[in-house]
Amino acid sequence: MRKPLIAGNWKMNLLIGEAVKLVNELKPLVAGVNGAEIVVCPVFTALHTVGQALKGANIAMGGQNCYLKESGAFTGEISPQMLLDAGCTWTIIGHSERRQYFNETDQVLNQKLKFALASGLKVMFCVGETLDERESGKMDEVLTRQVLHGLAGLAESDFARAAIAYEPVWAIGTGKTATPQQAQDAHAFIRGLVKKQFGETVAGSVRIQYGGSVKSDNAAELMVKPDVDGALVGGASLKAQSFADIVKNSVL
Ligand code: PEP
Repeated sequence: MRKPLIAGNWKMNLLIGEAVKLVNELKPLVAGVNGAEIVVCPVFTALHTVGQALKGANIAMGGQNCYLKESGAFTGEISPQMLLDAGCTWTIIGHSERRQYFNETDQVLNQKLKFALASGLKVMFCVGETLDERESGKMDEVLTRQVLHGLAGLAESDFARAAIAYEPVWAIGTGKTATPQQAQDAHAFIRGLVKKQFGETVAGSVRIQYGGSVKSDNAAELMVKPDVDGALVGGASLKAQSFADIVKNSVL
């Protein structure tokens, strides 16, 4: 059984006070939920304060990105050790916005993933094709490259702390969700790649989240698909009630 992993990616939103207000509203709404693992990913400046507000709650915290060194002359970056220090147990790596706007390559993302895992963080590693790539029949090729290059060199034991987030770029922030069948097909394809590369045990246990305009009213139909093991939620995670409804609708 793969426990659904429901994470809110707040992106570059919410000041510290707003972030704390959101988690204080969210906590009672999800307090009784134990059938899903819940994570919120605030901006870096809010991490410590949100971490304090989450003490004792059934909600973990993650960064949205981190660098591949512990410390040093890397202006503007943040290390896994700093995320852990601020109270994170998770980080997102390879979000399509990082790939698209900050030119993060499969090779760099692979180094980031390995360093974050070695540093003790759990990682949601994002992959997904653009609309152009899907429409020109390149989806399988793109996912194969992102998964095999991105996860290269991971040991079987690493997968206890690594989840994969399938996020078709055309569905992120567009209100256009993949149909449950499109999501299932892509997830099954990704699980097949993991099986070929890392074996049946890893493929059977690794969680694959879906991301792309997940809302409370479409979460259940996505989550019921056999290879969909949770969600990475952007816009709808910025309101406590809608994120809580997604969490509840994801517990089958
Ligand atoms: C995301 O940024 O990971 C995401 C899936 O965003 P949204 O839910 O807003 O499409």
